[in-house]
Amino acid sequence: MEDEIKRLALIHAIKNALKYGQARPGPVIGKVLADRPDFKQKIVEVRELVQQVVAEVNERTEEELRRLAEELGVQLEEKREKEERKWPPLPNAEKYERIVTRVAPEPNGYPTLGHVKGLLVPFVYARLYKGEFHLRFEDTNPRVEKLEYYDAIREEFKLVTEAAARVLNLSPGIWDREIIESDHLPELYEYAEKLIRQGDAYVCMCPAKDVRINRTRGIACPHRRQTVEENLELWRGMLEGRFSEGEAHLRLKTDMQHPNLTMRDPGIFRIIEAPHPIHGDRFRVYPTYDFAVSVMDSLTGVTHAFRSKEFEPHVDVQRTILEKLGLRQFEMIQFGRITVEGVPLSKRYIRPLIGAGILWGWDDPRVPTLRGLRRRGITPEALVMLMYDMGPSKVDATVSMGALAAYNRKWLDPKVPRYMFVADPVKAEIEGVLGDLVARVRVHPDKPEMGIREIKVPSKDGKAEVYVSWSDHQSLKPGDEFRLRGLANVKVRSVMPDGLSLTYLPEVRTDVKIIHWAPVDGAVPAVAICPTSVYSYESIGGFGEPAMSELKEGDLVQLVRFGFARVDGRNGKTIILIRSHS
Ligand SMILES: [Zn+2]
Repeated sequence: MEDEIKRLALIHAIKNALKYGQARPGPVIGKVLADRPDFKQKIVEVRELVQQVVAEVNERTEEELRRLAEELGVQLEEKREKEERKWPPLPNAEKYERIVTRVAPEPNGYPTLGHVKGLLVPFVYARLYKGEFHLRFEDTNPRVEKLEYYDAIREEFKLVTEAAARVLNLSPGIWDREIIESDHLPELYEYAEKLIRQGDAYVCMCPAKDVRINRTRGIACPHRRQTVEENLELWRGMLEGRFSEGEAHLRLKTDMQHPNLTMRDPGIFRIIEAPHPIHGDRFRVYPTYDFAVSVMDSLTGVTHAFRSKEFEPHVDVQRTILEKLGLRQFEMIQFGRITVEGVPLSKRYIRPLIGAGILWGWDDPRVPTLRGLRRRGITPEALVMLMYDMGPSKVDATVSMGALAAYNRKWLDPKVPRYMFVADPVKAEIEGVLGDLVARVRVHPDKPEMGIREIKVPSKDGKAEVYVSWSDHQSLKPGDEFRLRGLANVKVRSVMPDGLSLTYLPEVRTDVKIIHWAPVDGAVPAVAICPTSVYSYESIGGFGEPAMSELKEGDLVQLVRFGFARVDGRNGKTIILIRSHS
């Protein structure tokens, strides 16, 4: 009967592991009992055996499990992630000869995880419809914009779109056109003047506070009654510097009683006395978001403009601007925002932490900026797959770092080389060896084509030395047998507070606990930085196997029984790693 429980447990654990990435005892027990309700009387035994089998199954790689499933004749369900997730078609796509979409970031900071959806949704649609995709810098608020942010956006967006093209099988390439909104300011001024001449805009010189109060109360200010000539003169005054910031702004004349408050004579141009990162002091009057985004979308041929749903009340304003200017209308599509569970994305929050020295900079691996994530070893491919599966939904969504780690693991697991890194090392002496020991380990257990590494452990007078980790050392007691991965089977003779004494066993057995190690001779010192929260991290020192000395900055690796990591650099001979996740 025990055999039968084990057999069923194994089948269901394999299925469960292949479907969800890891098997869990609960569902497996349920399946076993569904197959054999009579086992319910033996529930304690069933639970114990299932837990044991699940633990064994979770030690195996996906390929091993697939092979095992084939041997056992297990019918596999398609993986949950493989389900076809189709995005809904674009509205009114047939109305347009060629679909044009854009991403329009403001260069006011380093792009974060929150930007990926805004980039990916229009990019993927443009590719799916064989259309055109634009990167447009919305740089009309010079006070918060900097040149370095333009470059950071280009650099990070390029990595994401290239990864998307690869992962989603889209035609390669990035954006088809780059547009700098501020280059179009003279053109935007002409449209402003057109509105003034039509009597659709006026220069208001009320203080901001009064404008707000009048707007809520639906009261028109005296400037609303100025003539076209008066307004043109005042507008020229704005452009020529006769007013200071805050003294005058151009407002669209709509309806001061409109039920949508944002529609009550919204501001469309204001004075900003700050040097522009590209144009310096050339301009001092800048359009508001509503004016710039709608006019630019229209002028650059955008057919489907995606924007975050928080701007929904502004759709009326934007449509009205286009109507009054007689400009081409297009589809406006809202989507929900993405936040990260327990991790603030806001620049307002991150900036002071950098200033205070708590964070190392915008590429700190604890920060969800795209460069921070990259430095941590989160691949753009993982970001793309996660966002693609979430879809272009209008609902706000929260992702957890755990979910992101799962996508990253899935992408990296079959690709990156594995190394042994011994954290908090303790020396172990092996007695009774018959000569020098040589371990032959595959660079990747499922990929023979990635090669085999040899690790030599020299012996002297029948003794050899290796490092094992403190946590393994703590779990051993005299008499325990285990295998040093790829090297030798051993038996514990004695456990000292700071070391181990082992006896060499000549036979090879793999049904015992397998422990990773590093040779004392040629071990590479390494430090693994493990981000824990936005505020803290843990540093774990240890020794890596000799081949780790060849690692270069940026390399992604899997450290056996420790987790995925990215090589951050070196400090002398010591390799600095950043642990991505388990
Ligand atoms: Zn006024």
